[in-house]
Amino acid sequence: MDAEQLRECGHKMVDFIADYYKTIETIPVLSQVEPGYLHKLLPDSAPTQPESFQSVLDDVKAKILPGVTHWQSPNYFAYYPSNSSIAGFLGEMLSAGVNIVGFSWITSPAATELEMIVLDWLGKMLKLPEDFLSSGQGGGVIQGTACEAVLVVLLAARDKVLGRVGKKSLEKLVVYASDQTHSSLQKACQIAGIHPQNFRVLKADSSTNYALSPDLLSETISHDVDMGWIPFFLCATVGTTSSTAIDPLLPLGKIAKKNGIWFHVDAAYAGSACICPEYRHYLDGVEEADSFNMNAHKWLLTNFDCSALWVKDRNALIQSLSTNPEYLKNKASQANMVVDYKDWQIPLGRRFRSLKLWMVLRLYGLENLQCYIRNHINLAKYFEGLVAGDSRFEVVSPRIFSLVCFRLLPPDDNEDVGNKLNHDLLDAVNSTGRAFISHTVLSGKYILRFAIGAPLTEERHVAAAWKILQDEASALIGVP
Ligand code: PLP
Repeated sequence: MDAEQLRECGHKMVDFIADYYKTIETIPVLSQVEPGYLHKLLPDSAPTQPESFQSVLDDVKAKILPGVTHWQSPNYFAYYPSNSSIAGFLGEMLSAGVNIVGFSWITSPAATELEMIVLDWLGKMLKLPEDFLSSGQGGGVIQGTACEAVLVVLLAARDKVLGRVGKKSLEKLVVYASDQTHSSLQKACQIAGIHPQNFRVLKADSSTNYALSPDLLSETISHDVDMGWIPFFLCATVGTTSSTAIDPLLPLGKIAKKNGIWFHVDAAYAGSACICPEYRHYLDGVEEADSFNMNAHKWLLTNFDCSALWVKDRNALIQSLSTNPEYLKNKASQANMVVDYKDWQIPLGRRFRSLKLWMVLRLYGLENLQCYIRNHINLAKYFEGLVAGDSRFEVVSPRIFSLVCFRLLPPDDNEDVGNKLNHDLLDAVNSTGRAFISHTVLSGKYILRFAIGAPLTEERHVAAAWKILQDEASALIGVP
């Protein structure tokens, strides 16, 4: 590593990225390449001799960027956002610069301690109960994704209950969630050895705005207990992936507690909004939870990846995930004086991710972050008004945060035709390259999702996307 070469190339790279952001608005937001395009453009094997940095950059421009879907484009309205910011980017850069592997406290004390501190900060911003903070038996940890977060708490819950009922009872363990829960829970169950039939996927429909019904949960648990099954894990969601439905945490949590069930709350997307006092009530009942997760990398200006997980009982995680090989033993760990995050996660190695979250929290401050969230929610309200003003469309489920679920109304109430129509509309809009939206299916209906959350999105981008939607709708079914 030559420091001067780093300086020279680093400056060029920053210029390159700054220019990327300057022009991002004009680039097709959804990559328009065909599968396998890159194989045709790159050689079959790595070069034997070094190439110049400039020639690599030229290839990035000519060959890589056309195959990139631009999540940071202001015309990006698909899935949920994955934010970047200058603060987050600088934190990532610093993390790559020092490039430590902070699995144990000793491997970089600052990495562990900063992570504990920033997760306490964020926990306080979200007004999480004190039990989740590092001063007690709990604490926060940065996982790569919400999928990893739910997996580690599921493993902790599984091992806790098996410690009570005996390992042979694994096949009797039952997990509960609504059919709107993110697929990560299903994957976690597969990995944790939960029998597929013991994953109770409870129906949530339009009668509850796609939220999990406490009565249905209660009935199902009672029935399971009568049949000799062992309920042990409940996952509730604040802001489901399809429609931002909100499971009622308080009654669900009370049912979980009564039945000795680990209660996990997934607020991967909507958790960020709960730093605003006016949205915090969606987390009411989180005090009943054993674990809580939100993705700072979705909607809190922290570059991917940064999924914040808090648990009330860190020992449950540690008992499930800890190993203590000779080659990692050290005085601080052996004396139990420190947190070793290797025991709170699946991999051993871990990046210094707290740096970027720390930078974001310091360089923005709570008030600016709240304004950021509110701005997106206001833009979503604006879009919702535009949809409501065109009689060919309907808003499908209540807009709560910055996602609007809507669709073109089917002619003659024919749902099959309606589903095809909305599918065609999605394709038509996305193939323009000027806006990117995604879809879901709710109660058998194909629904369009318009999620606002890219840092550069302004009202004019929302208006332009709506114009594209209207024009493409007119091409499909004619003007109103
Ligand atoms: N949970 C919810 C509610 C989500 O919406 C998502 C992704 O959108 C996830 C979990 C998965 O997030 P990740 O990609 O961090 O695993």
